[in-house]
Amino acid sequence: MKGPEVHDTTDLLNAIARGAEALFRGKGWPEGRETLLAELGNVAGVSRVWLLQVIGRGDDYIIQDYIAEWVSNPRYRLLGDESISMFRTASSDAEYWDVHELRKKGKHYSVVVSELPDCPFRQLLDGQEVLSMLTIPIMVDGRQWGVLGLDDCEREYRWNESEVALLRTVSSLLTNSILRARVHSHQKQFDILKRFNDWFAWEFDLGRMLLWVSGDLSEKEERDGRYLTMRRTFRMVHPQDRRALVRAVNAHIASGEKTFRHDVRLYGADREWNWVEVIGFLERTESGEVYQFAGIVVDIRKRKSREMKLRRQAHSDPLTGVANRRTLDQRLTYYCDLAENNGLELSVLLIDFDRFKQINDTWGHKVGDMVLTEFVRLCEQCLRGGDVLSRIGGEEFVVLLPGADCSSAIRVGERIREAVEDLSLLLEAGSIAFTISIGCATWNNGVGGPDEFMEQADKALYTAKRSGRNRLVCHHPEVME
Ligand code: GH3
Ligand code: MG
Ligand code: MG
Repeated sequence: MKGPEVHDTTDLLNAIARGAEALFRGKGWPEGRETLLAELGNVAGVSRVWLLQVIGRGDDYIIQDYIAEWVSNPRYRLLGDESISMFRTASSDAEYWDVHELRKKGKHYSVVVSELPDCPFRQLLDGQEVLSMLTIPIMVDGRQWGVLGLDDCEREYRWNESEVALLRTVSSLLTNSILRARVHSHQKQFDILKRFNDWFAWEFDLGRMLLWVSGDLSEKEERDGRYLTMRRTFRMVHPQDRRALVRAVNAHIASGEKTFRHDVRLYGADREWNWVEVIGFLERTESGEVYQFAGIVVDIRKRKSREMKLRRQAHSDPLTGVANRRTLDQRLTYYCDLAENNGLELSVLLIDFDRFKQINDTWGHKVGDMVLTEFVRLCEQCLRGGDVLSRIGGEEFVVLLPGADCSSAIRVGERIREAVEDLSLLLEAGSIAFTISIGCATWNNGVGGPDEFMEQADKALYTAKRSGRNRLVCHHPEVME
């Protein structure tokens, strides 16, 4: 074994202190790291001190980048060499992979190259003229961020335990400096983002079961944030959204995925329930333990009201605002099922305007539209809360009457028919009167399903039209079939 037996610990400590000074008081990360590497290289008497950063990794590969170095002699320079800039190593490179597995666990690795078997890893080190090497992983947030390496190209050196312990301190200094730089850049981003008041940040304190929030959507002034108990947090969430939120969080933790997104209503300082999107990021250690759950809450009131408007549009008729055919079909299936299986009384009225073409021809299409709108207004006055009025065609409407037997349905239908008959709309050019015909059907257990039920009402309507219009006809199985 060539070279000094042991390094002078005081020299090493002084070098580390000067490096730390550069990292924490002077230039900071990343510039200060050059000073640290140089200080270290000079006292350690090595040929090269370097930093490798882990860029990405999968189960069977790792991508790393050689980002900084100090060399005792320019001929040992490797920085800028394409083969180690953003290079990929596969698990099939067994000797290298073993080293990588050690680093992943935070363990140091020391080797005298002449003792390695002939393998791609040895060839790589030979190519770089390395005789002995020490690497110490740099861990950030429980994960391997990168590696600090010391290469000897002129001697074979075996690092002893206390030297390794000191060099671990260097690796911790790098960790701290990386974290500080991160916090600093996060703080800068945070300061910019704070100018917008449609969001706030949160972090779940897993140990104390407290939620830290940076503010409130409706708060304009800056705050340092505050802690909320779980009870308090839940009181802020709309009662109807609480269970779904807990379920979503649990499912997310179990899924192993990183980004969490969920919409809920939160109680704001404006004393209103406001729609927000909770976006969270789950950080885990290599062994899968969650160590951080934090994110932001974003105001999505505008998006939600747009969504709700679209949903309303998809389910309603644009002219009159009542339910459209799609909604009727859903409701019809639902109530027919209840009628068939739970004995719910159910009736339906199919309404068609009499001679509507004439109204259009005489007064114009616009007036025709107004008649339809007026009819809906009138009809709604004759119905109860649970009744479903829908427009299924140009001047055809359906009223679904849950809970109504035949005689109640006739009463409701007649009320509508008479109200329409009595109505006359006053226009500048004169007054319009109009009438409707109604086909009525009531559910009984002989009905095959929603389609047959509607067919019965349709047949009754046809009879009403044929027998003179402006009347209500009921479907009677024994008479009609
Ligand atoms: P009947 O008594 O036999 O029902 O005679 P009708 O003229 O009402 O005949 P039908 O029900 O077959 O025709 C419906 C007419 O309604 C056809 C069309 O001119 C008119 N119509 C359909 N949709 C609209 C609409 O959205 N607005 C207006 N103004 N008219 C419509
Ligand atoms: Mg019609
Ligand atoms: Mg008609």
